[in-house]
Formats: sequence, C-alpha cells, structure tokens
Amino acid sequence: MTRINQNSYERLIDENEIRIDGRKLDELRPINIEVGILTNAYGSALLHHGKNKILAAVFGPRELHPRHLALPDRALVRCEYRMTTFSVEERKSPAPSRREIELSKVIRESLEPAIFTHLYPRTSVDVFIEVLQADGGTRCDGITAASTALADAGVPLRDLVVACAVGKVEGHILLDLDDIEDKKGEADMPIAILPRNKEVTLLQMDGQLSREEFQRALDLAIKGCEQIHEMQKEALRKKYSEIQEEVLEELNEFSEKEENQD
Ligand code: ADP
Repeated sequence: MTRINQNSYERLIDENEIRIDGRKLDELRPINIEVGILTNAYGSALLHHGKNKILAAVFGPRELHPRHLALPDRALVRCEYRMTTFSVEERKSPAPSRREIELSKVIRESLEPAIFTHLYPRTSVDVFIEVLQADGGTRCDGITAASTALADAGVPLRDLVVACAVGKVEGHILLDLDDIEDKKGEADMPIAILPRNKEVTLLQMDGQLSREEFQRALDLAIKGCEQIHEMQKEALRKKYSEIQEEVLEELNEFSEKEENQD
C-alpha cells in the first residue's frame, strides 16, 4: 500500500488544480455503503469512504435502561462515537477522549431532528459508531452511516441525514477533505443536511473563510451531500430488493408445492 509521507510533499494542490490523491477540487473520495451487515443490531451500515471505514449499529426503539432517564413524550436518542485503537497510525488510547465525547454529542444532535422520536415515548434509540480506520471526515461519515443504519432499523425518519466536509486548502475551496488536507489546510467545515429540504443539522468550522468563500463552500457541501445521499438510498434499495427477491422465490416454491399436491 502506498503511503503519503506527510513531510514529503511540497504542495497539496498542483498547478492543474489536482489534489495530492489525484482528485479534482470538487470530487468526493470513492464511497461504498453496505447495510444490514450486523445480525444482532436492529439496523447497521458499513461505510467505506476513501480510506475511512466506519461501522454504525442501531438498537431501538427499545425499553430504556436506566428507566429514570425515560422521557414521557419521546424516545431518548443516545449516540456513542468511538475510534478503535487501530484506526489511526499511532495506537489510539482505548479510553474515551474529550474529542469522542464531543463528537458523540454533535452527531446525536445532527441525527435527532430527522427522527420521529414522539412516536416512541419512554424508549431509547441507541446509535453506536465505530471508526475502524480514519483518514479525515469521520464525524461526517459517522452521521451518514448512522442515518443509513437508522433507516435499516426501520426507525421512522423525516429524511436520511447526510454529511460531508468542505474546506480551504492553499487558497482553494475543496470538497471532502482527507486527513492531510484537514490538518494542513486553512479551514475545515463539516456539514450535515436533511437533503429533501436542505435543512442543516450540523455546521462546524475550524479556521477562517470569507463570506463569499463560506457561500461557495456551503453550495459545494450540499452538492457533495446530494451525491452521497443517492448512494445511501441505493444501498438501502439493494438490501430490500434482495429481500423482495428471496420472498418472491419462496412464494413461488410454495405455490409450486401446492399445485403439485393438487
Ligand atoms: P474528523 O474525523 O471528523 O475530520 P477531526 O478533524 O477531529 O475529525 O480529525 C481529523 C482526522 O484526524 C481524523 O479523521 C483522523 O484521521 C485523525 N485523528 C483524529 N484523532 C486522532 C488520534 N487520536 N490519533 C491520530 N489521528 C487522529
């Protein structure tokens, strides 16, 4: 596997506006989403995005423990974002870091507006996000994977939530920053939206952008989110069309047996 040595490059973007990994400025890293890969979870999704590998599992709506946390009028949404010890080049400490605690909170807050929590009072919806491999943009991928897993679990949603980071590197506005671009760039702005009405549920910014750059970055992020949203829908459709085929096959077999008995 080729590794980019963070100290060996001169520029992250060349004179033809091509990035260090060969992408154009407005190009996403390759994405693949699989749903329903954990049998014990109500819903699950595995997201490959460039070198990122993110697993999301959803449990619920289910009885809430401890009960004193129960909300009388809606489900309690809980979220845990964790990076595995082997997810980054240097071993990450297994103890929950301040960053993981903060990201668990912002991811929960970006998912919650999509969930019809009032349909399930006194229950919990538990979302677990495990970063198996990290290369920048894992909070966004955590959100995208988690909302796909929520849909897979059959949790009623207003819309899928989809997220993507944009930023500024060497004066250029870029879509979908990887780890080097995130660390060496001038600004990084993760955004999550409900794509149907473009409602923003997460917007953070590290660094500085002018008003005009911010508008361009936002438009680019929305375009990126729309592309990822298509892949989310496709992954969900794929699973349910496979199930539909299995059910139809079983029905055919059953009716053939019935006919033979007659
Ligand atoms: P995000 O993953 O959402 O972009 P950050 O901006 O905090 O969140 O992190 C950027 C990247 O830095 C991560 O995706 C990961 O590749 C790397 N990173 C984060 N935490 C650690 C860590 N403890 N050790 C090594 N690399 C890390």
